Amino acid sequence: MEKKFIYLDNNATTKVDDIVVKEMQKYFTEVYGNPSSLYDLGQEAREAIENARQRIAKILNCDASEIYFTGSGTESDNLAIKGVARRYQNKGKHIITSAIEHHAVLNTVEYLGKKEGFEYSLVKVNNDGIVDLDHLKSLIRDDTIIISIMYANNETGAIQPIEEIGKIAKEKGIYFHTDAVQAAGKLSLDVKKLNVDMMSLSGHKFHAPKGVGILYKRNGINPIPLFHGGHHEKNLRPSTENVPYIMGIAKALEIAYDELEEHKEKIYKLKMMLKEGIEKNIEGVISNTPENSVFNTLNYSFKGIEGESILFSLNDFGIGVSTGSACTSGSLEPSHVIMAMGRDHAICHSSIRFSLSKYNTEDEIKYTIEKLKEVIERIRKISPYKQ
Ligand code: PLP
Repeated sequence: MEKKFIYLDNNATTKVDDIVVKEMQKYFTEVYGNPSSLYDLGQEAREAIENARQRIAKILNCDASEIYFTGSGTESDNLAIKGVARRYQNKGKHIITSAIEHHAVLNTVEYLGKKEGFEYSLVKVNNDGIVDLDHLKSLIRDDTIIISIMYANNETGAIQPIEEIGKIAKEKGIYFHTDAVQAAGKLSLDVKKLNVDMMSLSGHKFHAPKGVGILYKRNGINPIPLFHGGHHEKNLRPSTENVPYIMGIAKALEIAYDELEEHKEKIYKLKMMLKEGIEKNIEGVISNTPENSVFNTLNYSFKGIEGESILFSLNDFGIGVSTGSACTSGSLEPSHVIMAMGRDHAICHSSIRFSLSKYNTEDEIKYTIEKLKEVIERIRKISPYKQ
């Protein structure tokens, strides 16, 4: 019997939905025109992407003119933060973000600080990994121009109080961007309710391909583009539009929200099964995922064990999980997210993230619990670390 890999790393990336692949196919081989071309084959592609924009706008409760297609979540984050900081720097050069952001945001802000004379402040999080609103308020200065806080954390799943932050930013006349890459397909993306001015999304986190992103930008905000070239995406993001991937991301987002309740129920049940299995069967575990978290994510530290040993041992059983974020796995730096939550160094080194999707099954979770228990007991027996 062929053994199936048990994929529990869906915050790193997801399997592309077969329906999405099917949707994209036509735009590779049939409607392959350049959307800027004036003949029918080009105009058909133009109509398709404008239709995709409208369908996405419906989910985000915004106008289609406020949706921009990019090449990734990282690009959307860069465009929003660098674009606004550079455009409005005459108003002030102070940026606020949080200590638990993805590197797509943290390194962007750090770059602006080091290379372009901006100043930035990092909002603290509490022990649950939720940003401290009082601290955020205390960091606001007269020259603060942009606040960027993620919607859901990629490592712990912690949901951030975006609506409240949006209100605070609005009252102070500060632009508010949220990296919603890990919230897409899990939480409401209604930009009006959330009080956000800009929001980044990435296709490969919700069963669309890698290499396509969305930036929602409220009309009236005018970021400086990252690239210069043609007049695509109203001059904000020149490059011939990636028509098949745009059609793919629109389809995937639609599926995610049409089927949200169904997937939420199924995945949350699996998450609870895994949670109970870990907490009842394994000693010395510390949860890094708060109650208020996205329905697919669980993060635990296993006292006295390096996360990497667990990762490789589970891999030997055909199970894929990650230590910290996918972008830092392979490096032995402790997770900056778990560190920011006030855990000690050893605990940060021993964290494992399980992130589920609609494709996981109860049998996979049962098998994972069984193998995890086995792996932890075996490593603890030979581990030089004391618990
Ligand atoms: N923001 C968050 C919260 C993420 O988890 C990721 C990917 O891991 C990104 C941004 C980057 O997205 P992309 O891989 O599309 O550049």
